[in-house]
Amino acid sequence: MANEQKINLLNFDRKAMEAFFVELGSKAFHGRNVLKWIHKHGVTDFEAMTDVPKKLRAQLAEIAEVRVPQIVFDQPSRDGTHKWVLELDCNNRIESVYIPDGDRSTLCVSSQVGCSLDCSFCSTAQQGFNRNLTVAEIIGQVWVAWHTVGKPVTNVVMMGMGEPLANFEPVVAAMDIMQDDLTYMLSKYRVTISTSGIVPAIYRLNEVSDVSLAVSLHAPNNELRDQLVPINKKYPLEELIPACREFVKNDKRRKVTWEYVMLDGVNDSDKHGKQLIRLLEGTPSKMNLIPFNPFPGAQYRCSTPERIEAFRQKLMKAGIISITRQTRGDDIDAACGQLVGKVKDRSRRELRMERNSRQGSSDRKVNGQRKSGGTSL
Ligand code: SAH
Repeated sequence: MANEQKINLLNFDRKAMEAFFVELGSKAFHGRNVLKWIHKHGVTDFEAMTDVPKKLRAQLAEIAEVRVPQIVFDQPSRDGTHKWVLELDCNNRIESVYIPDGDRSTLCVSSQVGCSLDCSFCSTAQQGFNRNLTVAEIIGQVWVAWHTVGKPVTNVVMMGMGEPLANFEPVVAAMDIMQDDLTYMLSKYRVTISTSGIVPAIYRLNEVSDVSLAVSLHAPNNELRDQLVPINKKYPLEELIPACREFVKNDKRRKVTWEYVMLDGVNDSDKHGKQLIRLLEGTPSKMNLIPFNPFPGAQYRCSTPERIEAFRQKLMKAGIISITRQTRGDDIDAACGQLVGKVKDRSRRELRMERNSRQGSSDRKVNGQRKSGGTSL
């Protein structure tokens, strides 16, 4: 069977894997064993899966494969961070960032090729949007990190390229795999999804997953947030905050992590701090202040260290645990908002032109391939 037609088992979480094996006429527990071989042991060759019956291994080799993303570029930073550029099958590239820190190591995972959200301070936004990543491409980033470094990744943050909640099912399935006892065994407190605030998807996530929630807030009022994070026009703060509060309601250990990029003269005044304190009253919160990471063509400057510290102190005094996120990997453009990958042929301008020229056709055809999904915000 030609390679492209083989089923990539990296796409399957435990349930899907069990179902696949039952459908093959085999047993669910063989599926669980294969899941363990792939993720825990990093084995991609069925022949090496010695507790799988020989006949079944041969059957698998005929119809299936374990296709992991390929690192085409490994850029180490002087602080130990690595930026990995991964080649996907249709000439698109995404980036993952590996951040070691003593006993901890955090992997920043991408969920889409590019992003369609257009946050004005983010360089991924400038790249436009191509497509959603598959489960295999998302969990494949964890596989690559774990088995390239040869050490467990202790934390995963869905904070790479893209808006994870706009690629809901694959992201949830991939996060399920990360937490599975047969694979990476990450606790729910060590897998964090970061969203710009797609409110209905936050409620939905709360029903199907128990991962931790981070929200890109960046402004304490709608007027400013509309400019910085335009999805706010659709889901304003008076809808976003209750959705987040609901998410952490049933677990006393949980807090919403807020991300707040520090932009000089834009969102960093004492008045903004005061508004922020009022906005978050009653919501268990942890504040991550992120020094703005510049990129070519950026229209903002980072707040001064003194301003950031004064802002942080103000929040702390009001009882909001606040940290200033250490900028990691900035010498290799791997810091927050600097991930650009290679987003093939789908600039925003192009998407617009394509839409106009199709005039109402609902088909989505990209580079000759029909696309399903996409972002429905
Ligand atoms: N789309 C999701 C996931 C991206 S996470 C989200 O918005 O949450 C990446 C984080 O880095 C987000 O909080 C994002 O707003 C922030 N960010 C983007 N550009 C940045 C920049 N230039 N400097 C600092 N932080 C930035």
